[in-house]
Amino acid sequence: MSVLVFADQHEGKIKKAALEAVQYGASVAKQLGTAVNAIVVGEVSNDELASLGNYGAAKVLHVADARLNDIEPGVVTKVVAAAAEKEGADVIIFAHNFSGKAIAPRLSARLKAGLVAGAIELPDTSNGFVVKKNVFSGKAFAKVSISSAKKIVSVLPNTFSLAPVGGTAAVEAFSPAINDADFKVKVVKVETVSGEVPLTEAEIIVSGGRGLKGPENWGLVEDLAHVLGAATAASRPVSDSGWRPHHEHVGQTGLTVRPNLYIAIGISGAIQHLAGVNGSKVIVVINKDPEAPFFKAADYGIVGDAFEVVPKLTEALKKY
Ligand code: FAD
Repeated sequence: MSVLVFADQHEGKIKKAALEAVQYGASVAKQLGTAVNAIVVGEVSNDELASLGNYGAAKVLHVADARLNDIEPGVVTKVVAAAAEKEGADVIIFAHNFSGKAIAPRLSARLKAGLVAGAIELPDTSNGFVVKKNVFSGKAFAKVSISSAKKIVSVLPNTFSLAPVGGTAAVEAFSPAINDADFKVKVVKVETVSGEVPLTEAEIIVSGGRGLKGPENWGLVEDLAHVLGAATAASRPVSDSGWRPHHEHVGQTGLTVRPNLYIAIGISGAIQHLAGVNGSKVIVVINKDPEAPFFKAADYGIVGDAFEVVPKLTEALKKY
């Protein structure tokens, strides 16, 4: 018995959510007294693969097939199933991200394995295998018991902080049979629609709320984000009003983020917003109302008009 983690990559770099999944898998393996191995598909350097040891992986199976640089969920399901069989894995872990959401349910059907999507805690293995997850848009929790022999869990990104352990994984080439006919869909073009850095992976996020008055003022947020190399985000009313796209919405009903620095501009700090951002290491709040609830959650606060403060901040940062 072992634990297997599917670690997805983008342009040869393992995604942060996948590192969190590997780390989660290592903790599950420790609870079960077994080892955790990872499977990576597509072209990735040996150093990048071996670095998964830093998050607890003992071995990385690598399917170095350029056709898998973009995820084709049907084919990758077949590959992960073959890897699980080879390793005798009973627990298979994914990140609950775009590829995890596409592959985990397919694998669940294929292996007749119970699946819990979006785990927020390590499983309780004291009496079975019970996993906690959010339900009803984060308004409640559910504890779900998996009773099938094979178990699949996807881990909610940005829920667990990464804590590298300083190891190197053994890398093993893995070549399951994949035919061209297995590829039913193909990514023909990818267009980046948001800021410069994906939101859930961003180290720095500049986020705007209704205090910015309208979409025509978003240059303020974008200029500051550009200087800091940050991603941009928004509160829910901002995306509901169509000022910003929905994929920038953070909070209880949006994305959960955990950057090193979260700068909130003209956001009141409602509990539903905080639910998605309070894992940030440092929170800076810019709001003209000194009573805004966000200041209670802030590490640093600036009471002032965003239209005066933010351009000055951006200009000052350009000097560094
Ligand atoms: P407002 O509450 O209108 O606050 C605007 C802030 O800007 C104020 O604090 C004001 O003082 C400040 N301001 C105004 N002008 C300036 C200026 N010139 N300079 C500086 N500051 C200024 N919200 C989310 O964000 N994410 C969620 O996922 C989410 N999920 C929800 C789920 C449910 C079930 C419900 C009921 C609500 C949810 N909400 C969510 C909405 C949430 O309750 C708040 O209504 C929302 O976060 C408020 O957005 P805001 O802070 O941008 O706007």
